[in-house]
Amino acid sequence: MDQMIQDIFPSCYQVAYQPRPPKPEDKCFFFRGRTVLERWDGEALVLPDYAAVAAHIGQPQFLFIIDETAYYLAEYPNALESPEGYEWHDLRHERSKKSRVLCFAEATAYHLAEWYGANRFCGQCGERTQPDLVERMLRCPKCGNLIYPKIAPAVIVAVTRGDQILMTRYQGRDYKGYALIAGFTEIGETAEDTVRREVMEEVGLQVKDLRYYGSQPWGADANLLLGFFARLDGPSAIHLDRQELSQAGWYHRDEIDLPPDGVSLTNHMIQAFRRGEWD
Ligand SMILES: [Zn+2]
Repeated sequence: MDQMIQDIFPSCYQVAYQPRPPKPEDKCFFFRGRTVLERWDGEALVLPDYAAVAAHIGQPQFLFIIDETAYYLAEYPNALESPEGYEWHDLRHERSKKSRVLCFAEATAYHLAEWYGANRFCGQCGERTQPDLVERMLRCPKCGNLIYPKIAPAVIVAVTRGDQILMTRYQGRDYKGYALIAGFTEIGETAEDTVRREVMEEVGLQVKDLRYYGSQPWGADANLLLGFFARLDGPSAIHLDRQELSQAGWYHRDEIDLPPDGVSLTNHMIQAFRRGEWD
């Protein structure tokens, strides 16, 4: 069974906001840019326990609970050396060295860290904001402004033509593998509008028979990805947007040479097509 980054069963992510004081064995996230403080324990990269860093940090911000463990966000003092054995690890490149739970926790914590960092002050009056005690929300004590986490919807589209699927490669990104058409939903659009617009903008094609496949939180970019399959409607000649894509083409199911990555919705959709479950 294919998995995605959010599939951590039998572990359980508790989304409810239940702040509690940290226990010694709870975990702390420290981010600097796109790096995170972690230690190699001989088998995997792991986060610091609260007990290991408590002396160096103030009251950490509660994030969420997975199984029995609560996860917190804090800032590690710039002037201090990292604790013994800990280093700053790039968020993107070391997924294979981490447990499934940590990969998911890290993406979610990063999403929250970006949001907390961008909302230290009220956008209406400039006062310093405070975390609410009941909800995952920031509150302005002066003007009452309430600020909720920002989640940006975006679509992933598998365009099909019988036994063929349209796959693309992006310009100027680290990720060189095959992808599907993707893009952010704009103000005033439905997700279906986004599907039609992005396919037209990126490859100049029209689509019909839109079907919803599934969704995925993608915290690295504050997204909620919505996956759709759509069938080609009309001519199949691709007119590539060279600023966005370096390559796009039609691939037969049998030609798809892409192993399951256990992470992304894109890969999950391509695998479902390869197996003949979607068209
Ligand atoms: Zn305010």
